[in-house]
Amino acid sequence: MNATVATLAEQSVQTVKLLISGELTESTTTEWRDVVNPATQQVLARVPFATTAEVDEAIRSAHAAFATWKNTPIGTRVRIMLKYQALVREHMPRIAKILTAEQGKTLPDAEGDVFRGLEVLEHACSVGTLQLGEFAENVAGSVDTYTLRQPIGVCAGITPFNFPAMIPLWMFPMAIVCGNTFVLKPSEQDPLSTMALVELALEAGVPKGVLNVVHGGKDVVDALCTHELVRAVSFVGSTAVGTHVYRLGSEHGKRVQSMMGAKNHAIVLPDANREQTLNALAGAGFGAAGQRCMATSVAVFVGASQQWLPELVEKARTLKVNAGHEPKTDIGPVISRAAKQRVLGLIGAGVKEGATLLLDGRNVEVPGYEDGNFIGPTIFSDVTTEMEIYKTEIFGPVLLVMTVPTLDEAIALVNRNPFGNGVGIFTQSGAAARKFQSEIDVGQVGINIPIPVPVPYFSFTGSRGSKLGDLGPYGKQVVQFYTQTKTVTARWFDDAAVSDGVNTTISLR
Ligand code: NAD
Repeated sequence: MNATVATLAEQSVQTVKLLISGELTESTTTEWRDVVNPATQQVLARVPFATTAEVDEAIRSAHAAFATWKNTPIGTRVRIMLKYQALVREHMPRIAKILTAEQGKTLPDAEGDVFRGLEVLEHACSVGTLQLGEFAENVAGSVDTYTLRQPIGVCAGITPFNFPAMIPLWMFPMAIVCGNTFVLKPSEQDPLSTMALVELALEAGVPKGVLNVVHGGKDVVDALCTHELVRAVSFVGSTAVGTHVYRLGSEHGKRVQSMMGAKNHAIVLPDANREQTLNALAGAGFGAAGQRCMATSVAVFVGASQQWLPELVEKARTLKVNAGHEPKTDIGPVISRAAKQRVLGLIGAGVKEGATLLLDGRNVEVPGYEDGNFIGPTIFSDVTTEMEIYKTEIFGPVLLVMTVPTLDEAIALVNRNPFGNGVGIFTQSGAAARKFQSEIDVGQVGINIPIPVPVPYFSFTGSRGSKLGDLGPYGKQVVQFYTQTKTVTARWFDDAAVSDGVNTTISLR
């Protein structure tokens, strides 16, 4: 975890605060980690690994706040969200700058990160209709049945480094607008933009204890998954950690959803619009330095479309690798030196295993940012399903190319891959697209769309190896996740009615 004991000199760097019971507080821990600009290695801040007592205090603060927050009228909760979305919109450029500095992605992409979270906030303002119950009149003589959608209590959220604005905003706004209270554990690699959003939530009027934040790694996550007062855990991150969180939380009786790793294929049919398709592949393969869970990581060319491959390589070659805040940058650095070493190791493994390296980004030079964690766009062809580069989520700017003779074989290839986050098909044939959407076993399908992430009126619906738990992280599904259904069966006696006497059998009507 690279946590160290802070020296006095190091403490002059700003420290990231915990949020407990409405107060931004300095952790008492001795374990800290640097938050580092991945383009320059400048230390931006130091983040604490909260102590067990601090995590417990945050959960207890959320538990105490739940008693009043759950009874706060829907209109009051929604008005806070309306104010919050206006504040986030107003502060988007400032937050995007912080995000680029700590995460590395380009400034326009960082604004997109905030904006996709803002869309969830806007949707949270509709909770009045999203959280409605159901009613059936007269299910038996004078008996009505109806449901209440009630909040469940303290919910916890654990988020990854790659979308430090959007993914926290997938979680706590929907949870709290439904009447729950929340403990958030942001990524320890880039917590600053998340904290800027949290501060705006306080400014919008989120009451004391309704939203709490603790920082840290495995110990903090495990404490959230096992604490007796936590009722639900929402996790987004890698498959290994997500599986651990799902098991641990479930064993301790929590409702858990884990959105995890991916290997997303894009199928290219020969009748596709060539220019649009190649632009989409380059953008979705290399954008955000390939560090998106919905990045295109395998392009599958069907039949004659493989002749377009040299053009794809040329397009990728023209992408500009630079620090994210520099104008016209296409690809920023990867998050850390360790991440860079991991991706370089995988590229090396691909070469050893016999894949053809059509474009090699390993030795990219970025003048002025020689210390940055840069990797240029990299393309492999002649990839087989047994290779490590195919089996592993690379999470860097590396695109694999495979070729198959038919659409049926492309569908079979994707369906054999264990992940199910996203997939795309590029074609001008409605019949081919319709066959594809029906037969492909992946939860989010794009038709001439490379990154098919649904808007929040729907839900994020990754499937198979990319997801554990039934319900998605936003949209209507998350309202189900953050509420429990209570069914009420009620009979009101008419004083004038004659009593039927004691009945000891199950009613037959
Ligand atoms: P990660 O799994 O390393 O970290 C995610 C969170 O888990 C962080 O808050 C981290 O502190 C915590 N954590 C790390 N190690 C832990 C451990 N051993 N025990 C308990 N908690 C631990 O993921 P990451 O590298 O931050 O993010 C990249 C991954 O997230 C990729 O696999 C990507 O595909 C995935 N992701 C998935 C989605 C999706 O919706 N499916 C979205 C974004 C990212």
